[in-house]
Amino acid sequence: MVGAIAYGNWELPIDANIFGIQSTWQGELRIPFACHIRQPSSTAPPNVSFHQFARLPAELQLRVLRFCDKPTLFQLMQTSHLIRIEATKLFFSDPEAWYCVEGEWLEMGGHPSDVLHDIDFLRCIQRLHVECGFIGGETWTDQNIRNFWRRVQCLFPQAKYVMLGDNFKDRSHHPVGSSTASWPPPELHRRVCQLCPPDINVFVSILRRDGRLKRTLWRRVTIQEDDNETQELDECQNLPGPSIIVPHKPFCGQVGTCQYLWSQDWAIIHEKKALRVLRLAAIERYHFYRRHEAFACPAPNCDTWFERPEEYTTHIVRTARNHDDSYVLPEPYQSLFADGEERLEQLKQRHREILEPFLKWWGKFGSEERKVAEKEFLRELEHNPLHGQGEQFSKQRWLSTMQIWEQE
Ligand SMILES: [Zn+2]
Ligand SMILES: [Zn+2]
Repeated sequence: MVGAIAYGNWELPIDANIFGIQSTWQGELRIPFACHIRQPSSTAPPNVSFHQFARLPAELQLRVLRFCDKPTLFQLMQTSHLIRIEATKLFFSDPEAWYCVEGEWLEMGGHPSDVLHDIDFLRCIQRLHVECGFIGGETWTDQNIRNFWRRVQCLFPQAKYVMLGDNFKDRSHHPVGSSTASWPPPELHRRVCQLCPPDINVFVSILRRDGRLKRTLWRRVTIQEDDNETQELDECQNLPGPSIIVPHKPFCGQVGTCQYLWSQDWAIIHEKKALRVLRLAAIERYHFYRRHEAFACPAPNCDTWFERPEEYTTHIVRTARNHDDSYVLPEPYQSLFADGEERLEQLKQRHREILEPFLKWWGKFGSEERKVAEKEFLRELEHNPLHGQGEQFSKQRWLSTMQIWEQE
């Protein structure tokens, strides 16, 4: 399923900086933190030294910081106290940088031990994108919504902007024939925004059918009428670019190995998916970026014709069953995507090299090794503060999740 590929991907530069980008199951791109702070491959500076900079008066240093790009700011966050504070402030105030976190985790209580996100990092985030699986159903009562917002405030004390993303198609009924833009968001989405604390700017993003699934974004506005104050949702014209995946907590011990393996499993699947999405972008870019060359579907046995950007992507989304990845890419992109596939193979190889000794240590079900390993594993969970000491954790949840490797 890649039904919600964003509009406008064909305008993204397609070069070596796409390596590492992930895609959600719906086809929406996500940027791992490591990619966000990576120097773009074409502009990587030679080994510059900061000696000159360090000799400037503090006031000028701070002023220079405002002209730094993200990778440089991130490096400066590891330097002197004064610079660190200012660089951190600038780094997180970037209006384009939305950080995404798991909504289900927040709905289920937001316990630090239940998630791989680096909890210290979360405390600095100003623009937060909560990826909700599905906003709806009986669990979204007023009481639960209030608890949800309390958790957001507690875990993300710096969050000034919060965007809730509903990752399922809007299922509410709308008048036939009315245009998508005029549909107000479902009542529940409005309610969730109304109950958001007033000092947070809250947005909600909804997927709607429009050729393929398309995001619409709404923000809470307060309407003053005489003595009456009501809160409504207003549609935004601009959608933010792909959100950034927050860094994971430090991994250590056998629990850490297990977490690392999970996160790599996840990364490999979702990087593969992103390559598929970006191939479509490359084809559209090749024909329509700064030129206009209508083209026929490159799949064998398909002669659909495309006159404009987005048409090809929508076609693939709607006919996915008849379109695999066996078509030939335009020549300028062939080696790039071959490199991307090669890189994925290397990730898989590295994953195997860590998985094998781990499974050996873990032992077969019912074996003596397994009993020893389980004991050690639970001891780590109970005693290491990284895993959320003093919090409820479900032994069963950990052990059952590990069954995914039993068959391998
Ligand atoms: Zn550990
Ligand atoms: Zn086709």
